[in-house]
Amino acid sequence: MDVEGTRSAVIIGGGIGGLAAAVALHRAGWTVRVQERNPAGAQAGAGLTLWPNAVRALDALGLTEALRARAAALPGSGVRRPDGRWLSRTSADQVISRHGSPQVAIVRADLIDLLASALPPECLRFGDEVTGVDPGDADRRATIHCGGRRIRADLVVAADGVHSRVRRALWPHQPAARYCGYVAWRALVPRPAAAVIASASETWGRAERFGIVPVGDDLVYVYATANAPAGQINQDELTDLRTRFRRWHDPIPALLDAITPGELLRHDVLALRPTPKRLHHGRVALLGDAAHAMEPNLGQGAGLAIEDAVVLAHAVSGSASLATGFDQDNGLDRYDRARAGRVARLTRQSHLLGRLTQTRSATVTALRDATARLVPDRFALRGFDAAAGWHPPAHR
Ligand SMILES: Cc1cc2nc3c(=O)[nH]c(=O)nc-3n(C[C@H](O)[C@H](O)[C@H](O)COP(=O)(O)OP(=O)(O)OC[C@H]3O[C@@H](n4cnc5c(N)ncnc54)[C@H](O)[C@@H]3O)c2cc1C
Repeated sequence: MDVEGTRSAVIIGGGIGGLAAAVALHRAGWTVRVQERNPAGAQAGAGLTLWPNAVRALDALGLTEALRARAAALPGSGVRRPDGRWLSRTSADQVISRHGSPQVAIVRADLIDLLASALPPECLRFGDEVTGVDPGDADRRATIHCGGRRIRADLVVAADGVHSRVRRALWPHQPAARYCGYVAWRALVPRPAAAVIASASETWGRAERFGIVPVGDDLVYVYATANAPAGQINQDELTDLRTRFRRWHDPIPALLDAITPGELLRHDVLALRPTPKRLHHGRVALLGDAAHAMEPNLGQGAGLAIEDAVVLAHAVSGSASLATGFDQDNGLDRYDRARAGRVARLTRQSHLLGRLTQTRSATVTALRDATARLVPDRFALRGFDAAAGWHPPAHR
């Protein structure tokens, strides 16, 4: 039961977006309940990079110290060719001087855990799928259906991922997320003893990429992409991956050898394009991949989900109207105004980068690489200004 006078929010989905929303609303004084369909501890994933905007969003959630304890600042990053030559390279100092904080790498399960640890344990409800939502209206609270119960709330946050059931139900004209023509593999591996990894890198081939992200001294997050038909399943994914990249520069072959069979993740890359024009319906707000699943080329999906959470809590907590009835300025309109344009822009930018990096054309590949080599490194960093330059709204 809600504490008298506090407003209540049900968050559907206990991924990075849902947990960040719960932390943000809890800090703003809301009673929160996170409803996750999977059992506790079932969150899979490899690593993530977080740009300075995401680091600032986590700062706004009071998680600076927790992040520092679990994440590793990247010593630098850059783009290479399959023969190992660098096309562009940026140091951590350059990132800090341009954006005020470094880019960091973290194990995805650690990020989930640090967000969950910021919540009272009784807020987290695992193992029950939300099967329906009534969005409510100005005078009526929203209701979710879950495990045979109906739960009412002043606000419902739909953070139920790329295939969002809530989005399908309440935004029936929004096209479903589409396959982008390529797959992504991900794994965490122990750093091979002989591997020299001075910075993070992404190596661009023709319609293939390989990423190396050191997560501290002992662990490396690796990922790769390749064009493929949707839904294809290989008998031996790891052997296929080793064969694809065996002639690429060191330490890629050694990193592939270090992957434990069964720990390699493979996903079709999906994106929601265009993103919804409005991110709320009645008292339901869409957030994270449910609102703007994007291609992973900017390394921004999780970061934007955390930003959404900070902005949403700020927008609705300045408004008394969610508890008492909607008015012209109910907070959710502010959330829309602050987020819809930004997430649409970055979704498009990530798509364009995907077109360039997954091209099969030898001519476009050569032009792309020549451009990347000629652009001075400090200008290359400017390409990330739109994403990394975000700041949380000023606290009231
Ligand atoms: C290959 C790849 C690499 C990436 N790399 C990066 C990166 O480096 N940096 C970055 O910032 N982002 C990255 N991303 C993006 C990032 O992983 C996602 O944007 C982020 O995890 C989205 O979080 P979410 O909470 O919105 O969705 P999800 O993580 O999908 O969580 C949704 C949750 O909702 C639950 N759920 C769904 N339906 C229901 C229901 N009906 N009832 C109850 N629970 C439900 C699901 O079980 C799930 O736990 C990458 C993505 C990919 C594919």
